[in-house]
Amino acid sequence: MNEAIREVLAEAGLPPLPEPLARPVVDAHTHLDTVADIAHLDPEISLAAAREVGVSHIAQIGCDVEGSEFAENLARTHANVIAAVAIHPNDAARMGRTKIGPALKRIDELAGAGDHVRAIGETGIDHFGTADEEGQALQREVFAAHIAMAHEHGLALAIHMRDARNGGQTDGPTQGRQAHDDVVDILNSEGWPERVIMHCYSGDADLARTCLEHGAYLSFSGTITFNSAAPQRDALAIAPDDRILVETDAPFLTPVPRRGKRNGPYLLAHTVRFVAQQRGWGEAQACQQLADNAFAAYGGAW
Ligand SMILES: [Zn+2]
Repeated sequence: MNEAIREVLAEAGLPPLPEPLARPVVDAHTHLDTVADIAHLDPEISLAAAREVGVSHIAQIGCDVEGSEFAENLARTHANVIAAVAIHPNDAARMGRTKIGPALKRIDELAGAGDHVRAIGETGIDHFGTADEEGQALQREVFAAHIAMAHEHGLALAIHMRDARNGGQTDGPTQGRQAHDDVVDILNSEGWPERVIMHCYSGDADLARTCLEHGAYLSFSGTITFNSAAPQRDALAIAPDDRILVETDAPFLTPVPRRGKRNGPYLLAHTVRFVAQQRGWGEAQACQQLADNAFAAYGGAW
């Protein structure tokens, strides 16, 4: 099995398997459909490669109707996968007002499909991909609608936020109103669901404090390993043990030492080891804590 996976990864031009982790962990946010599209890796191979290194469980996240249907189906047919369903803010803005209504109706149906659908996401605000005011206004409405769905179905809420100027991946000067201002304002007015996951956390320690006060989880992607991610490492440093998640957001945001290559859930091992080192945790302790946190964030073990 291991040899076959190594060969497939090499043929696809993907990084090699890292050393297996000391204990199983959860990739708290990934897109196996996009990995298949962009990195040409079949979802079954992605799951098998992940298992080889100890990434035993996966949260598959939808960004549009098709992707949310894929997530629901993958989770229904794989016991180690759960689904999140939503229309991504940039997709919402692109769809426009006439198409968004039926799309949200379908997301609401998928949200009630069963215990394998555990979250509404990814949803939020993206000023990087949507610059026009009309598109941003629609993003705010769609985000509010998704928050209402999370409340109604008792699901977690997986949040995407990206600022116009710095891309949300690193620190840097930003101008005007930032995406996270909108995110926090809308959550304050609609009410924070019991379980909120700040996906690919890109803020600093101040924003982290606001999120943590409301009981949110901070989910760190491969970007936490980048030199430029000092503000995010400050956020990681102040987070309580039980509020920290790790994710790949595959096929994007590949961690050092594989930065620049395509990402897969199996590369989460690098991020786990980096976070363990930052927190002063042993590897087994890190895996246990991070797995417990992911199960709690998504409403219990699966
Ligand atoms: Zn994502």
